Amino acid sequence: MSNIAWFRELNKEKVSLAGGKGASLGEMYNAGLPIPPGFVVTTLAYRKFFSQIAAKVYPVMKQLDVENNEKLQALAKDIQEIIIKTPMPEDLQKEIIEAYETLTPGEKTQDMINSKEEAFVAVRSSANAEDSAEASFAGQNATYLNIKGTKKVLAAVKACWASLFTARSIYYRTKNNFPHDKVFIAVVVQQMINSEKAGVMFSVNPVSQDQNEIMIEAAYGLGESVVSGAITPDEYIINKELEEVKTRNIVKKTWMFTKDPEKGETVKVNVAPEIQEKGSLNEHELKVLSQLAKKIEKHYDKPQDMEYAIEKERIYIVQSRPITTLNKEKVPEAKEQPKVEVKEPVKQEAPAQASTTIIVKGLPASPGIGSGKAKIVHTPQELSKIEQGDVLVAEMTNPDMVPGMKKASAIVTDAGGSTCHAAIVSREMGIPCVVGTEKATKLIKENQEITIDGTKGEVYPGLTKVEKKQEESVQEEHYESVDTVADIKVIMDLPDFAEKAAKTGADGVGLLRCEMMMAESGKHPVHLIKTGRKQELFDIVYNGVKKVVSAFEGKPVWYRTSDFRTDEYKNLEGGENEPKESNPMLGFHGIRRGLEETELLKTEFEALKKLHDEGNNIGIMLPMVTHLSQVHLAKQMLKDIGGEDIEFGIMIETPASVQIIEDLCKEGIDFVSFGTNDLTQFTLACDRNNAHVQNLYDEMHPAVLNQIRHVVKTCRKFDVQTSICGQAGSRPEMAKFLVEIGIDSISANTDAVNKIRHTVAREEKSLLLNIVRKRLDQKEKRRIKKNGN
Ligand code: PEP
Ligand code: MG
Repeated sequence: MSNIAWFRELNKEKVSLAGGKGASLGEMYNAGLPIPPGFVVTTLAYRKFFSQIAAKVYPVMKQLDVENNEKLQALAKDIQEIIIKTPMPEDLQKEIIEAYETLTPGEKTQDMINSKEEAFVAVRSSANAEDSAEASFAGQNATYLNIKGTKKVLAAVKACWASLFTARSIYYRTKNNFPHDKVFIAVVVQQMINSEKAGVMFSVNPVSQDQNEIMIEAAYGLGESVVSGAITPDEYIINKELEEVKTRNIVKKTWMFTKDPEKGETVKVNVAPEIQEKGSLNEHELKVLSQLAKKIEKHYDKPQDMEYAIEKERIYIVQSRPITTLNKEKVPEAKEQPKVEVKEPVKQEAPAQASTTIIVKGLPASPGIGSGKAKIVHTPQELSKIEQGDVLVAEMTNPDMVPGMKKASAIVTDAGGSTCHAAIVSREMGIPCVVGTEKATKLIKENQEITIDGTKGEVYPGLTKVEKKQEESVQEEHYESVDTVADIKVIMDLPDFAEKAAKTGADGVGLLRCEMMMAESGKHPVHLIKTGRKQELFDIVYNGVKKVVSAFEGKPVWYRTSDFRTDEYKNLEGGENEPKESNPMLGFHGIRRGLEETELLKTEFEALKKLHDEGNNIGIMLPMVTHLSQVHLAKQMLKDIGGEDIEFGIMIETPASVQIIEDLCKEGIDFVSFGTNDLTQFTLACDRNNAHVQNLYDEMHPAVLNQIRHVVKTCRKFDVQTSICGQAGSRPEMAKFLVEIGIDSISANTDAVNKIRHTVAREEKSLLLNIVRKRLDQKEKRRIKKNGN
C-alpha cells in the first residue's frame, strides 16, 4: 500500500484505496483505453495526513448538533481551515511532487520537455463511497482544472481533502449515521487535455434507444461546450456493426472554448470561418471513436455514456459511465429528432436569448419559465446538492424531495403525467415544471445551464433571465374579485404556501392533502403510530392544518384523510416497513387503509376535531371510497370521538363510488368532490404516472364526463353539495362543462384560480343570457301566433 498509485496499478476493485473515480480510471487504463495519464494520491495518504489532526476534529464533530446550521457552518469552516493550514508530511509532499514531475515529460511535446515546462493537470477528489448513494455527500465534486506547478498541485490536493468537510457533507454523514472517520478521500492528478475537438458519445442511441446505433456529438475546442449544452454540436449516428456513419447533422459552430496558453484559463474564442460549417470529426476519428465505444461497452457489459477529447490527433477517453435510463422494453424505432428548430417566435415570457434547440420535450405540468444549473437527483440523499435557483432533474420526485424542490427554480422529470407528484407540488409552489420527458436525466448533464418552459413542456440549453418579480405582480394585480355563483376554491398540499394560495381570493380550500405535510416531518405516519408517537402525528396534522385555516380566515377548508401509496414514502423513517405491492395505485391506500390502521385515521380525526372545536371551518373528506360500509364505518369513528357535526364528505374517484352514489347519499354525506385524477385513471385504465399512456389519459373523455353528470344529478336530488378537486378543475373546458351541469364549487391550482374564476363567470353569464333569450324567443313566438307578424 502506498501513498501514490499510478493508473496502471489500479482497477475497479480498488475503490477503498483510490476512490471511485481513481479506480475507474485504473480500470480503463488497464483495459487498454487511451486515457490521459495520471496517478492517484491514495486514501492512505489522506489518512496519514489526517492522523495529525484527527484527535482535534472527530470528537468535536460527534458533539455537534447538525440541525444548528450556524454552528454546523462554523465547524465546517474551522475544519477546512485546519486542513489547509496543517502542513503535509514531508515524505508525502515529496512523493506527490515526484509523481507530478514524472507525469510532466512523459506526455508532452519535445519543445516542452526541452524547456522543462511543467504540465497542466486536473486535480479531482475521488471519495471511497463514490458509486454509492453516499457519494453525494462525500465531497467528490471538488475538482481543480488547469493546475500547474508543484505548489499549486499540493494545494489542490489539500483542497480536495478539505472538501470532505463541507457543511453539507458533515450534515449528510451525520443524518445517515455514516461515521465521519470511515469516509476517506483519494485525489486524482491527471494530465489536462487541451483538445482541438471533443464531445460525448453513447454506445446506444439514447434518443431512439436503438442498440444498433452509436451516437457521437462533437465540436471544436474543449469538451465543456458540448457537455454543458452551451452549443449545438455536430451529431453523427453510426451503424454499430459496420462502424459506418448512417446520418450526420453538421451545424455551424462559430465559437469554442480553449485554454489560454499563458494563464491556463478557459477562454471563448471564434472558430476560423473556413471550418465553421465543416464537420468537426473526420472519417478516421469517427471510426476510432466507434471502435472505442464498442470496446468500452463490451468491457463493462453495459451501454456507456462517454466523454472524449482529441489533441494533436490523439483520441482520449476522459470519462465513461453506464447509461442508466435506457428503457429496455422499448423497441428500436424510427429516429426521433433530439434537436428541433423552434418554429414560432418564442412568446413574450419565453427564453429571450436561449438556444433555439430543445434538449428534451415532455408534458407541460406547471407554467412559466425557469432557468438555472441542472442538478440530477437519483436518490433523496442527493438533494443536498441543490442550491437555491438550481433546476431539479429527476426520474420522478416524491414527497421526501419537497425540501429540495422548494429551492429549485424549475423541475424536470423523466416520468409522470400531469397529476404526478412533481406536477402537483410545482404548481402549488408556482415553479415551472416539465414531466414525462422519458430521458431528461440522460440528456441533461449535471451542472448544465438550462431553461425550462413549463407552458410548452420544453427544455433548452443556456440560461435566461426570468423577470420573476414582474410576473408575480402581474398575476396578483389580476386577482380582482369576480362574482360567480359556483364557489372557486383552491387545492393545497403544503401549508407553507397557504398565504400564497389565500392571496388568490379563493372561496376556500377544496382539497387539502395531508401526505406532503406528513412527509415533511421525515417520518412515516404509520411508523409514528406503531412506535407510540401518536402525539407527534397529531401535532403534524394540527399545526399544518392550522396554518391553512388561519390563512383562509373562516373560509371552508376540506381536509382529505391520508391517502399515501405504499411506494411513495419508503424513504421516510420507518418507510422501509411499507408493504411491497405490485400495483400500489390499486393497493393499500385511502380509506381502505385508514379503516385497517384505525389509530392513524383516528389521530387525524382527533386533530381535526380540535381545530373544529376552536371555531375553524373544517370539512373532512374520505379518499378512494369504493364500498358503502367504508363511509358508514368512518362516520361511526368520527362520531365516537365526538366529531359528528364536522362537515363530512367523500371523494368520487372510483367508478364504484359513481355506481353507488345514490346509496352513498342516503348514508348521509354533506358533500362529494370529484377526484378526476384517479377517476380518469380507473375509468380509462391508464396509470396516471405512466408517461407512455398519457396520450390516452383524458379527463374530458365522455366516459368520465357521463359519470360526473350522473353524480351531480343524483346529489342534487339529495341536497348533497358537489365539487371537483382533481387537476381537471384547472382546465377551462372542464370548468365550462361543470357550470353547465350545475356544480356547486370548483377547486383549481393556485396558478389557475384566476383563469377558472373568469371562465366560470363568463359561462354563468352566457347560461343566464341563453335562458333570457329563450324566454324572449318564446314570448315573441306567442305574440306572432296571437297577432300575426
Ligand atoms: C384525484 O384523484 O383527483 C385527487 C385529487 O387525489 P390525488 O391526486 O391525491 O390522488
Ligand atoms: Mg386521488
